[in-house]
Amino acid sequence: MKDPDIPLSAPEITDADREAVMEVLGGRRLSRGPWIDRFEAAIAGVAGRREAVAVSSGTAALQLACVLTGLGSASEVLTTPFSFIASANVVLHCGARPVFVDIDPATLNLDVGQLEKRITEGTRAILAVHAFGRPAEMDRLESVARAHHLVLIEDACEAIGGRCGGRPLGSFGDFSAFGFYPNKQITAGEGGVLLTDDADLAARARRLRNQGRDPHGPGYPDLGYNYRWTDIQAALALSQLGRLESILHRRREVADGYRRRLEDCESLVLPEGNSETSWFVYVVRLADGIEPSARDPLLAALRGQGIGCAAYFPPIHLQPVYRDRFGYREGAFPITEQVAARTLALPFFNQISEAQQDRVAETLIGLLRSER
Ligand SMILES: *Cc1c(COP(=O)(O)O)cnc(C)c1O
Repeated sequence: MKDPDIPLSAPEITDADREAVMEVLGGRRLSRGPWIDRFEAAIAGVAGRREAVAVSSGTAALQLACVLTGLGSASEVLTTPFSFIASANVVLHCGARPVFVDIDPATLNLDVGQLEKRITEGTRAILAVHAFGRPAEMDRLESVARAHHLVLIEDACEAIGGRCGGRPLGSFGDFSAFGFYPNKQITAGEGGVLLTDDADLAARARRLRNQGRDPHGPGYPDLGYNYRWTDIQAALALSQLGRLESILHRRREVADGYRRRLEDCESLVLPEGNSETSWFVYVVRLADGIEPSARDPLLAALRGQGIGCAAYFPPIHLQPVYRDRFGYREGAFPITEQVAARTLALPFFNQISEAQQDRVAETLIGLLRSER
């Protein structure tokens, strides 16, 4: 497939980022070296956590959180069906059951009122996601988790640098995770980090990421994984982390730019961030007056004009693995399904130009006009 003229996302790599990577390549330790330690100290600071354990992906970080929670076949985990599929898959990989709770249509995050009603004897954990970088109600979720003795896992992979009630995202609950895939606010190509305030759990996570190996002896006390990250990636991510504030500022500007250009278009519902959002993607929705069946042809037409776009997120419960194992059908989580059927993610990255944003907005408005 031909690359679109205006991609859906694009990493921003500066000269300083390149120099940081070259410095690692000039040394001898490409993995498990000093850059990982530096990155872990820096990201723990960003998240307001005592411990950070860098791993090979955001998914690996979430999976370690599930393993350290001790999830097993009798465990239920309350989570959202409106997310990147990784946040539910990690629960399945532990043999546990993801119990989905529908979202709040305003925030697109877990509806906390509904969530409380789904707590049973088997519930062990809540896994919350900040969909598209908009903070979930972590303060409320923290009190629910505390009241019911549940582990709280914060999937902050889409929301680095965001806040909830003034507190940094990544600081809530027992565990949190960030991811560094190329479409994220900070990227290392691939990578992730598990965060916690518990030094013993962090030490176990450090063993688990390296085959269960004891760092102080010859043996392998745990059944581990290879979830190691490289110093090459850590140096790249650390360099980017140094300009996190300016990256977030720029992304907010791009979101404001789309709002200015699209707010008069009655066929669209625009994403509502708040002052604590970390903008990850820019996802508009078709307004109620437009049939959802118009969405896929619109995506195809945008791509035909060289504009990258996507349907975020396909509901997790309707994916084949979840349908087959749990018998989910259409209608199970109506808000998630209604929202998901109407979304269009538009090109969104730091370096997008005014002219490119003009072109995206004009093309989209033109296509919607012929829709009415
Ligand atoms: C990106 C992302 C992850 C982690 O993805 P990786 O590709 O494994 O780094 C996890 N959860 C959500 C919601 C994400 O968007």
